[in-house]
Amino acid sequence: MTRRACAALAAVVALALATSSRALPSSFGSMDAAAVAFVKLVQENYPGAKNQEYCAWIVAAQDGKFFIGVISEDADMNHCKLPKPRPAGAAASAHTHPTSAGGSNLEAAGQVFSEGDFAGTEWKGPDGKQALPGYLGAPAGHVLRYDPGGTECKGSTLIRRNFKVVSGLSAEQTQRLPIVPGKFMPLFDVSGKVIPKPDYCKRL
Ligand SMILES: [Zn+2]
Repeated sequence: MTRRACAALAAVVALALATSSRALPSSFGSMDAAAVAFVKLVQENYPGAKNQEYCAWIVAAQDGKFFIGVISEDADMNHCKLPKPRPAGAAASAHTHPTSAGGSNLEAAGQVFSEGDFAGTEWKGPDGKQALPGYLGAPAGHVLRYDPGGTECKGSTLIRRNFKVVSGLSAEQTQRLPIVPGKFMPLFDVSGKVIPKPDYCKRL
């Protein structure tokens, strides 16, 4: 090997090492693991994550594993447009809220799904047949999962959202969120006005 080829090879090895120390696995053993990896990737590597949302489809591969689809930056601080059309094999959607929308304050509104997020997750796709689970990467770093059909209503104002904490929150911390999963709470808007219940709500 010439000295020049040797130097070139060393450069390639160095680059590979530098890249592999940050690289994510390309597929994951579960949908939850893929969603958690998406949130970590965005929050740790995308400077824009402070002030805007990011979103992606979590896609099932033929071998039973899951991968992160194209990450959309077509977004602002309150919305993110998922890549269209919904890809074949799409298993879930995932989005982040800007980390500045609450930081580590677990009581901030941005730490949970918005009304629009719940409604969007109930969307049954272009053929009207299949709604998919939705993941949220919250400002404090925790990851939540809402499965379609997970909203129940009781009486004139009570609503219960049955979402799950996938990672990043203890049971005690979960109780501090503005929407506590699995608990009946009144449905008010930010100004304290009662708002109509969503039509996808299951009446109890
Ligand atoms: Zn959201």
